[in-house]
Amino acid sequence: MPKTAVDTVLEMHQVVTRFGSHVVHNGVDLDVRRAEIFAVIGGSGSGKSTLLREMILLQQPNEGSVRVLGVDLANITDGAALALRLRFGVLFQKGGLFGSLTVLENIGLPLREHRQLDEQQVETIAAGKLAVVGLAADVADQYPSELSGGMMKRAALARALVLEPELLFLDEPTSGLDPQSATGIDELVLQLSDKLGITVIMVTHDLDLLWQVADRVAVLAEGTIQGLGSMTELARMGKPAIRPFFDGPRARAAQAQAFLTHQEPSSKPK
Ligand code: ADP
Ligand code: MG
Repeated sequence: MPKTAVDTVLEMHQVVTRFGSHVVHNGVDLDVRRAEIFAVIGGSGSGKSTLLREMILLQQPNEGSVRVLGVDLANITDGAALALRLRFGVLFQKGGLFGSLTVLENIGLPLREHRQLDEQQVETIAAGKLAVVGLAADVADQYPSELSGGMMKRAALARALVLEPELLFLDEPTSGLDPQSATGIDELVLQLSDKLGITVIMVTHDLDLLWQVADRVAVLAEGTIQGLGSMTELARMGKPAIRPFFDGPRARAAQAQAFLTHQEPSSKPK
């Protein structure tokens, strides 16, 4: 595969998204580099999930371009779209596990659909992913309704990883979790990035997650990217649209915790 100079795996250029007269994105530019943990932050309703949907072929912007793994998503053929979808995994905000299937069956589903494997091979690979996300082997035969919120996120993550994706998209991976489960997800995301070299693209408003794991962060507000850089870099910017993520007690507590955990929160070793 030809590599661009900085090895950009995803690019958005001047993306405009409208719902009727409501302009959600008004010229979004961003780029994601291979193997980084990239985050998009923004207030509720700022258009984070919509931006993610445009990255994963669930929605087309009204204007502008989106390129994923070198493929321009405008006018993409069905065949090219399917081939591309098999190269990324997605963890949706609500998890999206099938309630009528066990955890192991859920994780194995993409393998059954897209790989020529026998049942034994599917189960072996699915059980391996269960371990990767830190779930005990006996969770395999449980149904989603029997799992805690944190376990459900992990099981959905295992399913998102089962085809060995190059890119992993996460929509609010810690939302709805208690602080301890959320911390577990932080650590898991870091491990996936460090051990598997997966590029992680997440949308979140979880400040702890941002300080603990994100290499670079794009701040989405008023329809555009107001700033893009490490949390340390963004913290130094004075723009009014960026300050709410750094001022105030919750923002400062997240930053202080990150400094306790790492000396340099935004330059973790690769
Ligand atoms: P976020 O994830 O940042 O909270 P969303 O991307 O979900 O925000 O939504 C951004 C805005 O776009 C919101 O005002 C939402 O109501 C609107 N929106 C999202 N999807 C649709 C849709 N399918 N139809 C109409 N409006 C939508
Ligand atoms: Mg959202």
